[in-house]
Amino acid sequence: MEPAADPDHAIPAEAVARRLDSDLTAGLGEDRAAALLDRYGPNEIESGTEPRPLAILVEQLTSPMILMLIGAAIVSAALGDTTEAVVIAVVVALNAWIGFRQEYRAERAIASLQAIATPTAAVVRSGRRRDVPVGDLVPGDLVELEAGSIVPADGRIVEAHALRVEESALTGESVPTDKQPQPVAAATELASRSSMAYAGTSVAAGRGRLLVTATGMSAELGRVAELLRGAGAEKTPLQLRLDLLVRRLGIAAGVIVLVVFAIEAARGESLDALLLSAVSLAVAAIPESLPAVVTITLTLGAQRMLKRRALIRRLFAVETLGSVTTICSDKTGTLTQNRMTVVVLDMAGDRRDLSSEPEGAIGLGALRDVPALRLLLAGGVLCNDASVADDGSLTGDPTEAALLVVGSSYGLDKEELERLAPRIGEVPFDPERKRMTTVHRLPSSPAELPAELREAFEVERVEEAGARISFTKGALDALVPRCDSVLVGREVRPLDDALRRRALGAGEELAAEGIRVLAVAMRGFSPRGDVPTDDGDVPTDDEVESGLTLLGLQGMIDPARPEVRDAIATCRSAGIRPVMITGDHPLTALAIGRDLGLADGSTVAVTGAELDELDEARLVELVGAAPVYARVKPEDKLRIVEALQGRGEVVAMTGDGVNDAPALAQADIGVAMGITGTDVTKDAGDMILRDDNFATIVGAVGEGRVVFDNIRKFIRNILSGNVAEVAVMVVAPLAGMPIPLLPLQILWLNLVTDGLPAMALAVEPAEPGIMKRPPTPLGESLLGSDRGRRILTRGAMLLGLVLIPTYVLWSAGDDAWQTVLFTSIAFAELAAGFAMRSERIPLWRLGPLTNPLLVAAVAGTVALQVALVSVPALRDVFSLAPLAGWHWLVAVGVALAYYALVELEKAWSRSRARAAG
Ligand code: ATP
Repeated sequence: MEPAADPDHAIPAEAVARRLDSDLTAGLGEDRAAALLDRYGPNEIESGTEPRPLAILVEQLTSPMILMLIGAAIVSAALGDTTEAVVIAVVVALNAWIGFRQEYRAERAIASLQAIATPTAAVVRSGRRRDVPVGDLVPGDLVELEAGSIVPADGRIVEAHALRVEESALTGESVPTDKQPQPVAAATELASRSSMAYAGTSVAAGRGRLLVTATGMSAELGRVAELLRGAGAEKTPLQLRLDLLVRRLGIAAGVIVLVVFAIEAARGESLDALLLSAVSLAVAAIPESLPAVVTITLTLGAQRMLKRRALIRRLFAVETLGSVTTICSDKTGTLTQNRMTVVVLDMAGDRRDLSSEPEGAIGLGALRDVPALRLLLAGGVLCNDASVADDGSLTGDPTEAALLVVGSSYGLDKEELERLAPRIGEVPFDPERKRMTTVHRLPSSPAELPAELREAFEVERVEEAGARISFTKGALDALVPRCDSVLVGREVRPLDDALRRRALGAGEELAAEGIRVLAVAMRGFSPRGDVPTDDGDVPTDDEVESGLTLLGLQGMIDPARPEVRDAIATCRSAGIRPVMITGDHPLTALAIGRDLGLADGSTVAVTGAELDELDEARLVELVGAAPVYARVKPEDKLRIVEALQGRGEVVAMTGDGVNDAPALAQADIGVAMGITGTDVTKDAGDMILRDDNFATIVGAVGEGRVVFDNIRKFIRNILSGNVAEVAVMVVAPLAGMPIPLLPLQILWLNLVTDGLPAMALAVEPAEPGIMKRPPTPLGESLLGSDRGRRILTRGAMLLGLVLIPTYVLWSAGDDAWQTVLFTSIAFAELAAGFAMRSERIPLWRLGPLTNPLLVAAVAGTVALQVALVSVPALRDVFSLAPLAGWHWLVAVGVALAYYALVELEKAWSRSRARAAG
């Protein structure tokens, strides 16, 4: 028994496992894990990022618009008009309630979007490795860590291979620290406990296993949940710009109110009348329904994107997507299927095309006479972290899985080989080094080895007992400099210039066919050798990855995703530049790029080494044209993004590995891979591709354009109505008429006859040709490229249309003139809703019924308006007069005329744009 006082970091891993009643190889049993989950509760943090109803309500009630309305109610009450005061109060309450519900729903929708992104951890339970939601982890669980994992719970390191953990969340120190299983002194402070890893920190490099000791709120820094939940609730730039717009309109309204107040005071109006018109004007000028509609539109957009497999983590991405001008994409898995198949084996120029290999040539028999082939395949199988499950399904990196598959087609079984030559050390793969190494202990006599490994003894001349052997695999150009010999047939020859050229030439030839090339090399170590490799020890790459013997190449194909070709064509027509950035060989990259229409015959690939040569200015110049970057390091991605942004491009950038996170964070839209992406990348992403597919990004851009389009549509629709209302309020008194619209009537116009169709415009389907026009510049005015000219024109047209008939009625002493004015504006705004469904396409070409929600909203609103004017009780509340049949006809006539004028104005703008362009 250990003394109870000894903390986990100070006792051996085995002792911690015993204390937790777990097992360092098999982990917990499923039943016990379930029981522990009951006892300890889920591994999450009760955080404050859930929607907070009270805060939303307070925010709603203190919005400038609501305050203005409350002011209006108070003025009405002071003027003795209690009905109006009460109705305004009801409107305030209703509006706050609707606003609250929409906001709350939107926040909940975003929270549930983020819940989909909940990460899983690779856990060993009952001896099997499987993915478990992070929330289900319990003390005693054995968790596998790899580069890019966010440590899901506090735990004791029980195995480590070059494991480095970035603990800035815990210590503020951003340089990763080494982790290893040996206990440290009991007094060691948190930040220096190399035998422990803590929840919320992230694995920067290497691989390891963690025995969970504390979960949820008992973890030192239970921040995982919070880290991964992202920042959903913050306002988007568009929402901020909208707030600004509303504030400016408020100020404009204030100025107009003062002017009108002065004019009317000069005319000797009573104070009551002055106050009344001031309140009406203020209400008329504020677009009450706008903020709510914008929030709803953005969330609906995010939900539609999710249906297309793009998960939005930060709401601003919805609007920014519409403005994307460059999409930088990884190759493997995003443009291609990530389904690798080895098709070529090449041993010092002896090339075997597996697809054309005669029947019977594959299989153990074929290995007998070609030692290099045996070792090439055995190396691919042993230097490998993928695995084959009992049912034959493959897990792990597809590149490595392909090596297992080809090995097994020749009769090599990974488990069997590993039993004979167990792995005792490794230098993990990392895209920077582009290679990985495993070290294996050999049995004491060659006779204990199968033929395919026995060769190793001869080749490396390590015949004594206790010898070790290492296999290194990786990019050919990353391996060749570390080789000093090459296996040709049975013979180990020094790697002279001729042989080096031959190896590199063979690699290039394959790459030019679009084949991904992995080289395999080996090295033997005598037992008394100077390599400190043994259980638990981490060799450095220089110790084991030098003086290697090159065994040969394995070439694999990874077919392009068929849908990507169309997606790339769509990008081109939409004014978006697709760019491939890959760690693969330039020729492989170009072959795939050409196949997909991303590059043409004259394209050359820019390599990472060439990028290193360029200063920032030259880089900015280069990125303007280059569509293919190959052999890049993850940090090159960051430079490319910055250079593109330096040219004013709006960049979407994909990534999966831990080192991609900075580039993703820098990009305007960071796109993380849902399947192959690491936790850290997903955390840095603004959007997650659930299917890792390039075409999904293009689909999401399309949705982003629709959202932005629709927001513009209802902003135009709502504001042109408001302009007309304010203008009527200002112009009518100048024409000698009394106050034309009362506060309550204006509220009705803004919230009902304007608000409902605007909501329907928010779900307007994509306009035809939306991906055939260039992207909208980021930050272009919300009012459109004309900065509001159309809104003013339309407001003026509506003003003229309603004021002329009303003036005639008023001059003729018809009491219904105000009601006719009110109804005309209401109907005209509904009619305009149809015309404003597109700025480019006339309604008859869109099809009048293609937005059913708008049709329903308009029909419903017409019915409400008719009821308001016809039902005496309602009429009284709104101070309206009954209308005769021909009064209604006037209102309908005004509406139709307004619709026609807007269509004409659209046609005129179109022809002007065509003449200009
Ligand atoms: P992309 O950047 O488009 O995803 P990629 O998968 O080829 O392409 P990396 O994963 O960075 O890019 O790999 C870079 C190179 O490292 C590959 O071209 C290959 O030669 C080598 N490589 C890839 N996976 C492994 C592995 N598991 N072991 C050893 N070497 C590898």
